[in-house]
Amino acid sequence: MRILVIEDETGITNFLKQGLEEEGYEVDIAPDGQTGLHLAITETYDLLLVDWMLPKLTGIELCKAYRKENKETPIIFLTARDTVQDAVFGLQAGANDYIRKPFHFEELLERIKVQLRPIAEHNGVFRLGPFSMNTETHQVFKHEEEISLTQKEFQLLEYLMRHKGKVCRRNKIMDSIWGMDATSDSGVIDVFINALRKKLKIQKDEEYIQTIRGVGYIARES
Ligand code: CA
Repeated sequence: MRILVIEDETGITNFLKQGLEEEGYEVDIAPDGQTGLHLAITETYDLLLVDWMLPKLTGIELCKAYRKENKETPIIFLTARDTVQDAVFGLQAGANDYIRKPFHFEELLERIKVQLRPIAEHNGVFRLGPFSMNTETHQVFKHEEEISLTQKEFQLLEYLMRHKGKVCRRNKIMDSIWGMDATSDSGVIDVFINALRKKLKIQKDEEYIQTIRGVGYIARES
């Protein structure tokens, strides 16, 4: 697995390179946005780690330009900014996840693994916090209690659970479940998400199904 780290602070790049190589990843470093974008487009990587504040091209500009090339490699943003809005900008620009500096290496590693993990079925059973879903028997449980969902609610939950830890973009959800193109996004997803949260009895302070405004949703272990 090959990772490109685009970051101008050598302290951080050295730390990341050493840590990731010890974990068995191959690591390339780009010290500015332009070099990073060039490498990302011309070489093949499994994941990009992109700092937000970069010389020559910001992380956001880089991300947008990269996605414009129809490149699907996952991108994790490293950001010192800590408002939710900034994180949303990153995700809107096409990033798959973000992590705030200063971060623990272990947490970053976990996020990287989520992005690189193939979407695997475990005998058709998916888990999220207290919830489990069996796609073969078409059942959903919260702990031991069975929860009855409509066909679409079930499909939506399945989509989110299959992509646990990954940002699910609205247009992708629409395509996959409603089969409409992205432009016809009417708030239908939100209606179903709200219904799901209600039926699953997810409390306001629980973030099993998180909304990322203007982007989509993410299922996370709270
Ligand atoms: Ca920087």
